[in-house]
Amino acid sequence: MGRLVDQDYLWLRESQPRSQPGRIRRWLPFGLVPLAALGVWYGFYTAPDGSSAAPVASAETASPSNVAREARLIPAVAHVGTSARARPVNQIRQLTPSPGMSGLDAKALTMAPAGDLIGDAAHPGWRSVDIEQGDTLSLAFERAGLSYMDSLRIAHMPDLGHYFTRGLRAGSHLQVEADMAGRVQSLVYPIDAARTITLSRDDDGDGFSGSLAQKALQHRRTYARGVIRHSLYKDALAAGLSRPQVAQLNKVLSADVNLGRDVQSGDRFVVAYDELYRDGQRVGTGPLLAATLQGTTKDVQAIRYTDSAGQSGYYRPDGRPMRRAFVRAPVDFTRISSPFNLKRRHPVLHRLRRHEGTDFAAPQGAPIRATGSGKVTFRGRNGGYGNMVELRHDRHVTMRFAHMSRFARGLSVGDTVKEGQVIGYVGMTGLATGPHVHYEFRVDGQPRNPQTVKLPGAPPLTGSALARFEKTARPLMAALERPGGDVQLAEAGER
Ligand SMILES: [Zn+2]
Repeated sequence: MGRLVDQDYLWLRESQPRSQPGRIRRWLPFGLVPLAALGVWYGFYTAPDGSSAAPVASAETASPSNVAREARLIPAVAHVGTSARARPVNQIRQLTPSPGMSGLDAKALTMAPAGDLIGDAAHPGWRSVDIEQGDTLSLAFERAGLSYMDSLRIAHMPDLGHYFTRGLRAGSHLQVEADMAGRVQSLVYPIDAARTITLSRDDDGDGFSGSLAQKALQHRRTYARGVIRHSLYKDALAAGLSRPQVAQLNKVLSADVNLGRDVQSGDRFVVAYDELYRDGQRVGTGPLLAATLQGTTKDVQAIRYTDSAGQSGYYRPDGRPMRRAFVRAPVDFTRISSPFNLKRRHPVLHRLRRHEGTDFAAPQGAPIRATGSGKVTFRGRNGGYGNMVELRHDRHVTMRFAHMSRFARGLSVGDTVKEGQVIGYVGMTGLATGPHVHYEFRVDGQPRNPQTVKLPGAPPLTGSALARFEKTARPLMAALERPGGDVQLAEAGER
């Protein structure tokens, strides 16, 4: 169950945002105004000639698009109906005051005529709650007039609560059955194409119980192949990968190849992934399972492997993870303003002074991230370095980050930080002519060029894990090497 939560699964619903029809619906009336005005104008001028049909014609040209818009909205409405009809037991229970109900609730129920309950007239009590960007369950419930306490009860459910907090996805639609006071009786949350959560209020009325149903998916192994003509990005799209898949591919391969510099015209690539089908309908794609890039200078292979603890990652065929222990730059979207150079004239001191690190020009205040995990061994003012943080990764490797405007809140000497964690913010304290990060990578105290130093990888697979990995990797690599795209139907599940 856990593996389907994976970020690398791409559901079709996500690649086609639901807000699109809404936006068209919102703006279409404005588009009709000039059209109608034109019609009136045309009618005004043509009426004396007896051709008064013109305004009518313009009205008719508008209505088919209305019909089309309504037709597009129908599936969502039909869905509400289906889920309501699928749970008749709850509908009956909702209208019957239960012994645990407060007097007020019970009164509200008995007084309410069925047609006055929320939802459409045919299926009273059910309403669709749309999750918008940045929503919490409480916010969405508030908009829909549902109980705040119930949103908390649901969000705190021990097993399913996290689907309504961290796991709540913008663009999804919850179907909620509630009484007039907004008390939730039951709830259906289709998380994605494969999974649906169903909750119902406990008989004692204070909590909810529910279950997660997972529909079986058919995995259809698919291969995308191509030859680089323009760029990996363009040619991978041309080979049939979607934009999010190309982004995944870039991320995976960039561990071993500089995609700007090392990919050349004529290089070949193959990518394996699963198309996911439910009831014969394509509903999304699974993560990239394997990828190769073969060229004159580069031969890169990556295979996805999920370890026994359920952690997925990409590995080289020999079991070494693609993930590195370090990244090369402490700031995003930046340029190197002064490279590592042990014989450089210093811009401020105007004399020969080794540049023992790399300078990354970056906007004042931009976050500086640890390039590897380590323990904070220095945090403070250090002469020309200005505000500096030093991290010790292990017995050999230390990293220095200088000229910070300020340090990350709460960071102090002795703390352990992870790769990617913010440790401070870009500034120009110490000897600096503009805002930048001076980044040093030292091995046994000796400065190394952080851009070219051979970075150690995360530890490789060994023993039984390696044997298990090879069992996955061998058939995948063999399939990638076969010419032409063979397609096979695999059973559900990644294994
Ligand atoms: Zn520097």
